[in-house]
Amino acid sequence: MMDHRLQSILDKPFHNQPLTGEDIVFILELHRKDDIEALFNAAREMRDRHFGDKVFLYGFLYISTYCRNNCNFCFYRVSNTQSPRYRKEEEEVLAAAAALAGSGVHLVDITLGEDPEYFNSKGRGFESFIHLVKRVKEVSDLPVMVSPGVVPGEVLEALAGVGVDWFACYQETHNRELFRKLRPGQSYETRFEVKGLAHQYGLLTEEGILVGVGEEVEDIVKTVEAVRFPGFAQVRAMNFVPQGGTPMGGDAPPEPLRELLIIALLRLVFPDRLIPATLDVEGLDGLKRRLDAGANVVTSIVPPSRGLAGVAQSVLDIDDARRTTESVLPVLADCGLQPAAVEEYLTWVVHKQKFLEVRTGEPFFKKVPGRRRQ
Ligand code: SF4
Repeated sequence: MMDHRLQSILDKPFHNQPLTGEDIVFILELHRKDDIEALFNAAREMRDRHFGDKVFLYGFLYISTYCRNNCNFCFYRVSNTQSPRYRKEEEEVLAAAAALAGSGVHLVDITLGEDPEYFNSKGRGFESFIHLVKRVKEVSDLPVMVSPGVVPGEVLEALAGVGVDWFACYQETHNRELFRKLRPGQSYETRFEVKGLAHQYGLLTEEGILVGVGEEVEDIVKTVEAVRFPGFAQVRAMNFVPQGGTPMGGDAPPEPLRELLIIALLRLVFPDRLIPATLDVEGLDGLKRRLDAGANVVTSIVPPSRGLAGVAQSVLDIDDARRTTESVLPVLADCGLQPAAVEEYLTWVVHKQKFLEVRTGEPFFKKVPGRRRQ
């Protein structure tokens, strides 16, 4: 039988009542199988109310594995000599983007480290990156998400100007002390504020946390508070994967359940947001668990045999084509779900942009007169 307190907590989101910090801690400390199943059932019911049986699919292009930073959890930190480095040429990126679009994804996610080639003024600067993103949008004819790190405001403005829809930039934690340990030499505030700037240019943003890096349950409560602003239209939780050649490489990985509890929690607290089920932690084998916990976007779909890496799992399931749309579809069917039509995703994005414009009282795109309104 379900715990009485759990029942009253799970009822709250269905009556538009917010969860308290204590409710959140209670959820994150669940350990009885029946209670966890009840949580996941509630999360799925909530997803169903807002998204029906439709799921969005995101293609992923990690276009440069160079980075100037030294995040302690990351395989691609600048000082990791084990990390393979590449920077893809434009033709390779465009061909991969076209392949993703042809496979039926709804969005192309262009990710890179804080590549000195772009960030260092002695390099080519961001002009070539902005051009590349524009071309990806043209070739794929899909919404585009970029994840280039903490870029200057004028770069965000230019990205909005070429039609970018999303800006992803993860704090990984909202505990400032833990942030300093995870991302030495970087500013918590600057990283957070760049997302506010992206909102001003009309971009939807994705915030994210890394689970199992030393956070307490109270830190997840802080995250929930930090991402309340609806401009964080997508919020991802992802279990930490220890990486070879890094200071945290010998740490024990977190319990797989921890990520799932947070996915379900996010679904209940933010029912109408996009919550990813990533292929980048456990590959295809972990997808059903994440969808069953209430996620509604499949992320890190990677075109095989193009020399492209994942982030947390640099090679898992990529070249054996288990991170493709084709591989994902049977899992969706097994969960009673189906991919949305591309038009449905476009409608969701435009609706969200308009909703935010009304909510914030500021017309989006005001600084970007040439931006295309859909
Ligand atoms: S997490 Fe991002 S910013 Fe940090 S080292 Fe890795 S690629 Fe660079």
